[in-house]
Amino acid sequence: CGVFGIYGHDSAATLTYMALHALQHRGQEGAGIVASNGENLFGARGMGLLPEALPEQKVKSLASYKNAIGHVRYATTGASELSNVQPFLFKSHKGDLGLAHNGNLVNAKKVRDALEDEGAIFQTSSDSEVLAHLLAKSKAATRKDKIKHALKQIKGAFAFVILHEDSLTVALDDHGVRPLMLGEVDGAYCVASETCAFHAIGATYIRDIMPGEVLTITEDGIDEDRYVDTTYPNMCSMEYIYFARADSEFHQNSIYRIRKALGSALAEEMGDIDADMVIGVPDSSLAAAKGFSAQSGIINEQGLLKNRYVGRTFITPDQVMRERAVRMKLSPVYDLVKDKKVIVIDDSIVRGTTSKYIVQALKNAGAKEVHMGISSPPLKNPCYYGIDVSTHAEIIASKKSVAEIRVEIGADSLTYLSVDRMHDVFKQFGSRGQCDACFTGNYPIEIIDHILPQEK
Ligand code: 5GP
Ligand code: SF4
Ligand code: MG
Repeated sequence: CGVFGIYGHDSAATLTYMALHALQHRGQEGAGIVASNGENLFGARGMGLLPEALPEQKVKSLASYKNAIGHVRYATTGASELSNVQPFLFKSHKGDLGLAHNGNLVNAKKVRDALEDEGAIFQTSSDSEVLAHLLAKSKAATRKDKIKHALKQIKGAFAFVILHEDSLTVALDDHGVRPLMLGEVDGAYCVASETCAFHAIGATYIRDIMPGEVLTITEDGIDEDRYVDTTYPNMCSMEYIYFARADSEFHQNSIYRIRKALGSALAEEMGDIDADMVIGVPDSSLAAAKGFSAQSGIINEQGLLKNRYVGRTFITPDQVMRERAVRMKLSPVYDLVKDKKVIVIDDSIVRGTTSKYIVQALKNAGAKEVHMGISSPPLKNPCYYGIDVSTHAEIIASKKSVAEIRVEIGADSLTYLSVDRMHDVFKQFGSRGQCDACFTGNYPIEIIDHILPQEK
């Protein structure tokens, strides 16, 4: 998912809409905005891509308010319904509350069951709703202390944006799994999952919000605090490899440059291959292919074209549809690859659908040899922290060796980046620690519920 928040700007709702548009790659299932006029909160939500979810009329109805938060929801394979689209809006005589969450909690069921035993009634099946109940229940003296108290009771990955009538609070979990950035536009503070949202609204990127931080933005400015003393930096590696937009920056480094470095590390590990060209799978692997080309000296060509009007293939529900979607999405440039030995660079293999199709399509187009290079290690385990890399049963590398996967996808060779080299690259770009559980199985946050997000 993607989140955004802005406090004290005349065009808060419009800027939120524009920011969500820049974050659309983080979620296509639904979107919403909650805005405040200093006294009450008002919301608009809908299913689908932004223009569908939030038509102009709905955004206009919020246009006079100065504070707003927004959310784009990630598509999972489970049933999607409007009640789960965020931001959530809770009305109470004690004040309204707007809430949006990126990530996935690993103890939400446990907390929810306990709250229900005490009489709470939940409106949604979303893990995010537990925070609102914990907040409402907290006996702490101040609003900030209530928030800190509530945050201490939840575990997992979370970047929260919380809107009260006269404050915007943002919080990042103590492992900092999901990205969250602080910016400023026309003297107003804003926060976003990625800096590409800042570029879209003309905001300046100030800094990354750190693990365990709680920032409260009010008329008086910004209050910077933490809800825990000890933190364990474990940013999601998949954000760097695949999920984030290439023009976004983490720790002041563009994802584009990081992906290029992953590609060049892969080239070093692959060693000498006799090939005529390197082809990146558009769009997420174009940077890695450039890096691979620079390191290996093999020319980079755009041998695969993407039809931009087809959504991300991963989100389509069954295997037949998924295969059709890849075919519609990617096509080879026939006369470029004919009789050539090509190296194809992709950022990851999950089920193998994409790689298998690409190898076949390039061979049908006359390619003599197709070598696959993957700019991340073999993806073997599901993610419990908010990225839908699917279940164990569907993940090809959870059952098959690299040699078996090579046979399955029909490539002449298959090389993955090693876990060590991947971490070297992240460190080189300012990372203090990375989650790599989907590659290694070392889950940095203990899984308590054992429920995958997509099984909900
Ligand atoms: P596969 O076709 O092997 O199932 O998936 C691999 C392709 O999906 C790669 O081209 C990669 O860019 C993309 N991909 C990798 N991880 C994810 C993910 O977590 N979510 C989505 N939507 N796509 C992914
Ligand atoms: Fe990211 Fe993988 Fe860790 Fe999930 S398990 S947070 S996808 S690195
Ligand atoms: Mg891809």
